[in-house]
Amino acid sequence: MTVAVLALQGAFAEHAAMLDRLGAEHFEIRQFRDLECPFDGLILPSGESTVMGKLLRDLELFQPLRERIQAGLPVFGTCAGLILLAKEVDGGVPCLATMDIAVKRNAYGRQLGSFYTESDFWEIGSVPMTFIRAPYIASVSGRVQALASVDGKIVAARQENQLVTAFHPELNDDPRVHRYFLEMIAAQKRRRAL
Ligand code: GLN
Repeated sequence: MTVAVLALQGAFAEHAAMLDRLGAEHFEIRQFRDLECPFDGLILPSGESTVMGKLLRDLELFQPLRERIQAGLPVFGTCAGLILLAKEVDGGVPCLATMDIAVKRNAYGRQLGSFYTESDFWEIGSVPMTFIRAPYIASVSGRVQALASVDGKIVAARQENQLVTAFHPELNDDPRVHRYFLEMIAAQKRRRAL
């Protein structure tokens, strides 16, 4: 199994470190020709969603990645990555817009821009959650399942092969959310092999 990590900007190295820890092969997508390498899953890291959205278009990665996600490529978006996948963005413009969620950008205001908590994650249990100028998911529709909430706001969700967290599992010493994503990829590979 090979995971591609979008490495245009933001906290991609931390995701790579987590994948190393779990023994998953990975490489970085920085430009169009990197798409020639086969991959089974994609991570969209945290960072600045507006900058990443612009670079995705400038580098002509936008359309091919969007098509692959729509065709069922497992994708994991954290924080800015979540914003990139959302169909509705309060305080920004939708980018890849493949997931039936409405998000609120920079939702926690200045004072609470960054905070740490622990909360239950569906099928995993209590996980550490670091939020940095984070969005939350204001509403979900269609086939989206909420996986975690903090103070009544959804902070993790899944729609088929798309997984998103408003927090940063790559920044805490706990690989279980990444392992959950790797299991999604493995399940997709099994389906494709049938
Ligand atoms: N506030 C950033 C954005 O809107 C997201 C922050 C993050 O990824 N940590 O893109």
